Amino acid sequence: MQSRRIVLARRPDGEPVPEDFRLETVTLPEPGEGEVLVRTRFLSLDPYMRGRISDAKSYARSVEIGEVIVGGTVGEVVASRDPSWRPGDLALGASGWQEAAVVPATSLTRVDVGGESLSAALGVLGMPGMTAYTGLREIGRPKPGETVVVAAASGAVGSAVGQIARVWGCRAVGIAGGAEKVAYVKDTLGFDAAVDHRAPDFAARLAEACPDGIDVYFENVGGAVWDAVFPLLNFFARIPVCGLIAQYNATGPAAGPDRLQGFMRQVLTKRLTLRGFIVGDFASLRGDFVRDMGTWVREGRVKHREDIVEGLENAPAAFIGLLKGRNFGKLVVKVA
Ligand code: NDP
Repeated sequence: MQSRRIVLARRPDGEPVPEDFRLETVTLPEPGEGEVLVRTRFLSLDPYMRGRISDAKSYARSVEIGEVIVGGTVGEVVASRDPSWRPGDLALGASGWQEAAVVPATSLTRVDVGGESLSAALGVLGMPGMTAYTGLREIGRPKPGETVVVAAASGAVGSAVGQIARVWGCRAVGIAGGAEKVAYVKDTLGFDAAVDHRAPDFAARLAEACPDGIDVYFENVGGAVWDAVFPLLNFFARIPVCGLIAQYNATGPAAGPDRLQGFMRQVLTKRLTLRGFIVGDFASLRGDFVRDMGTWVREGRVKHREDIVEGLENAPAAFIGLLKGRNFGKLVVKVA
C-alpha cells in the first residue's frame, strides 16, 4: 500500500514556514505479528507540535529531521495481525502526519464518541478536553462564585475550560483574538464575558470584565495576555500553566527589563499557586473525564467547534496558521 506522509525537512527558525516540511510517498510494509495497518481519517493539529519540531530539551523527544511529524489520529483498521483488531474497526492512535501506518496493536485504543463526530475524539472528548478538565479541576480548583479567566477561549482547550467553569458555578471570562471569536465565546459558548486581546485597551477591558478580580487564571498563552492578567489576580489565586503559545516561535528572551523580582514578590504576598502540567500527569482521571465530559457534551452544556482542513498536504499551512490564531475551533485535518 502506498501512503503519503509529511516529514520534518529542517528545524524552523522562529515561525515555521512551508519549506520546513516535506511531503513524501512511501510503500508501507505488510503488518507483522501483533501489528495493525490503519488508514488515518482525521489528524489532530496541536500547538505542542511546535516544541516537538524544535531541538530544545522538553518533556518529550524531538522529531528528527526526515522523521514523520507526531500527532494524534483516528483511523480505520485496514488489516490486522492481532486478534483484538479487525478490518473496519475505528481506532484512536498516534500515527502522526501520514495517510496510513503500520503500528503495534497495543498503541491503539477504541473510539467512543457517542453521537458526536469521529473527530471529537481528538478534541472535546480527547486530549484537549482532558487537558481542560484535569488542569482546571486539579490545579485551578475553582469554587462556585469565583472568577475563572482563560485565553485562547474559542480554541479546543480554552472553550472547554470556560464552559466547565460555568458548569461548576463560576463566572467565566474568555480572552480571544478578534470580534468574531469574542462573540462566539460569549454568545454561543455562554461565557459571562469575553475580551479581545488585540484591542488597544485590552488590559482596561479585562479589568472591567473582572470586577471582583481573578481567582483562577488558566494559562494557555503567556506574553502580553499574562501582563494584563497578572495585576488582577486575587489573593490565593491558582494558575494552572497549561501552555504559552505566544512564545512558541520565540528565538530568544523577550526584550525589556527583568521583572522576575516583582513577579516573585506578588507570588509571595498574594500567596499565588502556579503549577505547570502536561495532560498525561493526570492519566488516572481518565475515567472521571470520560464520564463527566461525555455527559456535558450530550446535554449540550459543553459545546465545541471544529476547524476542519481537507487533505494531508494542507497540514503545514494549517499548523503555521494555528500558531498565529488563524484557526477557529479545534484544528483537525480530514485525511481520508
Ligand atoms: P487553540 O485551538 O486554542 O489554538 C491556538 C490559539 O492560541 C489560537 O487560535 C489563538 O487564539 C491563540 N494564540 C496564538 N498566538 C497567540 C498570542 N500570541 N497571543 C494570544 N493568543 C494566541 O489551541 P489548543 O486549545 O489546542 O491549545 C491551547 C493551549 O493549550 C496551547 O498553549 C497548547 O500548547 C496548550 N496545551 C497544553 C497541553 C498540556 O498538556 N499542558 C495539552 C494541550 C494543549 P486567538 O485568535 O483567540 O488569540
